[in-house]
Amino acid sequence: MCGIVGYLGENSVKDILIDGLRELEYRGYDSAGIAVLNHDDIAVYKAVGKLVNLEQKAKSYVSSGYCAGIGHTRWATHGKPTELNAHPHLGKFSYVVHNGIIENYQELKTELQDKGVEFLSQTDTEVIVHLFEQELKTNSNSFEAFKATLSKLQGAYAVLLISTAQDKTIYYAKHGSPMILGKNGEHEKFFASSDTALIGYCKDAIYLEDGDYGYVDANSIKLFNANTDRELSFTQLPESKISAQKDGYRFFMEKEIYEQSDVISDTLLGRVKDSEIYFEELEENFFDEVNEIITCACGTSYHSALAASYLFERYSKIRCRVEIGSEFRYKEPLLNKNSLFITISQSGE
Ligand code: GLU
Repeated sequence: MCGIVGYLGENSVKDILIDGLRELEYRGYDSAGIAVLNHDDIAVYKAVGKLVNLEQKAKSYVSSGYCAGIGHTRWATHGKPTELNAHPHLGKFSYVVHNGIIENYQELKTELQDKGVEFLSQTDTEVIVHLFEQELKTNSNSFEAFKATLSKLQGAYAVLLISTAQDKTIYYAKHGSPMILGKNGEHEKFFASSDTALIGYCKDAIYLEDGDYGYVDANSIKLFNANTDRELSFTQLPESKISAQKDGYRFFMEKEIYEQSDVISDTLLGRVKDSEIYFEELEENFFDEVNEIITCACGTSYHSALAASYLFERYSKIRCRVEIGSEFRYKEPLLNKNSLFITISQSGE
């Protein structure tokens, strides 16, 4: 699960969103995007790969006045990492960003398609925005439509939604994925999936709980849980980004050790189906011709490759060996067309 940011206010919304996403880069991502609503106008930019690609695309965009903006870094769970699948996702007049997985998206998608709704992406997320626009037809206002939408979603989500149906407003919901709401004075509101993205922009924040939802507009913050008003109890954000990034642990290494089970479940999100591992990126017969697996990595990645090689061999019944990356370049390795060669890198080098 990756990053979400949101901003309501009159400062440079594009820079605030992209700065926030930059603070969330450490969570990993494959694409990124932002959408900004100003009266009836929605500007949207998306790009595959690093944030600089997004910055490049949005280079000439300058917002003016009081705007609502949402941004996202995506770690694909449903649908390939392409620009079309990058968030924000568009309905007809609304945009949504979402971290997590909508487990019942297929049923919802089929119902919506039966009503004539056209889908552009392969993501689970896109159902949220279409559902919202359908609900608007029968509900008295946008917030009621948003609530009705949430009541139909199953799974884990942190969601931000903006719509020309309600200018200067951001709808939000948290259920199973992290989200923090911040404010600076009465008129500036912020959202982010980690407090590091908010430090420097605001001091007061609410660490939202599962089941929280509501909206922010120019003059108010509305927060509900299970249909009842929840008190707005703000806490002070940490002052230093480094200590916020350490999440209460003394050292990054300690944090990483305790984080392992969360990291593993996040990595498996969307990849387990009917008790089987499922990689939609791989052809079904991908392993048919493979007669050896070679993993190549350095340092910690090398050790994870060693651990993985036990599992690969046990489950695939294909011979598996591990090479040290820094030495491999000096080898004249015996590889053939049936070798599956996997490289692991923490740094991306
Ligand atoms: N399930 C969504 C997708 O595949 C969101 C993934 C995320 O948390 O970044 O687009």
